[in-house]
Amino acid sequence: MAAPFVDTAKITVRSGNGGNGVVSFHREKYVANGGPDGGDGGRGGDIVVEINDHLSTLMDFRYKRKYTAGSGADGAGKKCTGRDGEDLVIRVPRGTVIRDAETGEIIQDMSQTDRFVLCRGGRGGWGNQHFATPTRQVPRFAKAGLPGESRDVVLELKLLADVGLVGFPNVGKSTLLSVVSRAQPKIANYHFTTLFPNLGVVYVDEGVSFVMADIPGIIEGAAEGAGLGHDFLRHIDRCRLLIHVVDVSGSEGRDPVADFEAINAELAQYSPELASRRMIVAANKVDIMEDPALLDKLRAHVEGLGLELFELSAAAHQGTRELVQRAAAELAQLPPVAVYEPTYVERPPEVDTSGEVQIEEFDGTWVIDAPWLQRLIANVNFGDYESRNWFDQKLRQSGLFDKLEAMGIKDGDIVSLYDLEFEYQR
Ligand code: GDP
Ligand code: MG
Repeated sequence: MAAPFVDTAKITVRSGNGGNGVVSFHREKYVANGGPDGGDGGRGGDIVVEINDHLSTLMDFRYKRKYTAGSGADGAGKKCTGRDGEDLVIRVPRGTVIRDAETGEIIQDMSQTDRFVLCRGGRGGWGNQHFATPTRQVPRFAKAGLPGESRDVVLELKLLADVGLVGFPNVGKSTLLSVVSRAQPKIANYHFTTLFPNLGVVYVDEGVSFVMADIPGIIEGAAEGAGLGHDFLRHIDRCRLLIHVVDVSGSEGRDPVADFEAINAELAQYSPELASRRMIVAANKVDIMEDPALLDKLRAHVEGLGLELFELSAAAHQGTRELVQRAAAELAQLPPVAVYEPTYVERPPEVDTSGEVQIEEFDGTWVIDAPWLQRLIANVNFGDYESRNWFDQKLRQSGLFDKLEAMGIKDGDIVSLYDLEFEYQR
């Protein structure tokens, strides 16, 4: 069996943790009381998403669902900084939309942005070299690195095509694509022949070309997920123009007008916006037409709706040139292929501030260590007023200052939280 076409995947990604800073003092023969020289931890690696134009499915994500970047190494004496963690690069086909798995919000559309940082690695902790001050010459503490972030995302492939072919199975969509482009989709005389969307570049004239997509046939009930069609409709979401292929041969005893309306109803149910997209109708298989009245009826119906109809025999290469020329002319009037704007809104994470806290005092410097505090700090942008405010509030709510008071902290003492230090004021 051929491998199935994979066009969505849910994965968990995690950026690397920052390495820890260390406590160390300079030692040299005949030199007494060397200064602090503990190096910093390295940065954790990022999770980076990149477009790779050689990929056309999300198959790689079918079996591998967890992606973790490297962690930063700890610092060392002699002011040696730990190695940074390695970034992890995830390669996706162009047109992949990254969504938040929980909310469905769009984080990034990988159709023009070639490289996107999905998760930043944790910052490395500072070694004690940074904590020497005139009044604190022997800092006996260093800081732990901050943790990386973890998130669940859904990858969704939405092909980038100008023109999407829609219509019942077996009407000749794949044949049309193969005739007007160099794509070689499977063509066969039974329903459901196409299991993979196919893309082809249609060269119309010098400097005039467009991308055409042939998606698996839409069947009745597809919009409710009854058949294959539903999964594939997303691939024409971005198309600027639809070519609706209708079989007018009457060979299967079908009514072209009823077929045309059935497909339109499916499109409308899937997405009213898609249903209102610009459409050209291609009446195919005129070479084996049994009853010309069927074609006349379809033409009257379609033109009554203000749409254009082209007579075609895709198999005999008749009428195809006129069709693609008309399509190119339409496209020239239409806006470019849609790129989805991110809708994801950054929210402060839920951090439970009631967890354990370690407090140690070194000559008027209070060094605080707590797993929840790491998470809190990793999510603060200190350049941003709102973010600082949020942090301040959380800190107050946590009861940390009450604890410090109880332990005897005085105004002017230093509170030291990871890579942050401030003077205590009641
Ligand atoms: P799809 O399912 O819409 O992609 O349809 P295909 O392109 O696979 O075509 C289905 C069958 O119709 C194949 O046997 C084709 O050879 C045949 N076919 C396609 N276009 C024409 C045409 O213009 N005339 C005739 N006689 N047969 C056609
Ligand atoms: Mg086909």
